[in-house]
Amino acid sequence: MTQTPTLPAFDWPVLQPGWVWLCGAGPGDPGLLTLHAANALRQADVVIYDALVQEAILDWAPQAEHIYAGKRGGKPSAKQRDISLQLVDLARAGKKVLRLKGGDPFVFGRGGEEAQTLIQHDIPVRIIPGISAGIGGLAYAGIPVTHRDVNQSVTFVTGHDQSGETPGSLDWDSIAKGSQVIVIYMGMKHIAQIADKLTGAGRPANEPVAIVTSATTADQKVLETTLGTMVDDVASSALEPPAIICVGKSVLMRQVLDWQGIAAGKKPRNLDPLGRGRPAETP
Ligand code: SAH
Repeated sequence: MTQTPTLPAFDWPVLQPGWVWLCGAGPGDPGLLTLHAANALRQADVVIYDALVQEAILDWAPQAEHIYAGKRGGKPSAKQRDISLQLVDLARAGKKVLRLKGGDPFVFGRGGEEAQTLIQHDIPVRIIPGISAGIGGLAYAGIPVTHRDVNQSVTFVTGHDQSGETPGSLDWDSIAKGSQVIVIYMGMKHIAQIADKLTGAGRPANEPVAIVTSATTADQKVLETTLGTMVDDVASSALEPPAIICVGKSVLMRQVLDWQGIAAGKKPRNLDPLGRGRPAETP
């Protein structure tokens, strides 16, 4: 079934020449774009997009010039500066500029820096949040990022910092001790160090872990493993980034909530994976 949704009448903002809208594209599935993102795509003269933005999403802006601004190796900080300044130049040239970033622009996406550069150069901006991979990507895997019986907090961390190393500025001991559920972005490169740090700080080796790659796209893959086995399991799998790593008991909920598997005809593996012993709706 092919249907093109049209936006209902509403006071949709107009993307004016000389403006930059900094917009999240969500984790992949175009259906996870916000309506503001769809409205922006329809109006832009130029869309500057990142590596993680699905090409299909650019089809929503056939009138626009599409500029790829993904960072592939090289010197990321110099490149980031180029991107920010390119946005300034395009806005000054009177273009209606849409800066499209994967997930949410303000979650590990350097959107704060880009917006700051624009404002420092007197360019008017609008920020359009998006669904972040660490929430929406897990949901597509059937993992609720919070669940009443598991966690009252969640910690989002990045697996590498500006130098490309495991973030030295992170207090992994405190994270291990204080975070009920840990959601790790960009964690694949340093997965061995992350596993060591968390188990070294007392997290049990049998703690459930899920690794979701290319979440919400047709290539989505989910590996269920544990802190103690995840390094070997990743090594023997063919998993490719981008990947979200979720550490914590919420991963067990996938045994009942793998809604994509269920839609494809699988039976839920366990209707009560947390062993509550009573229906979910009871207090
Ligand atoms: N701003 C983005 C994150 C950018 S950092 C957001 O809010 O989602 C890039 C990292 O995000 C990747 O290394 C990976 O950890 C994660 N990521 C983004 N899209 C993803 C996807 N579709 N599947 C799994 N991980 C994803």
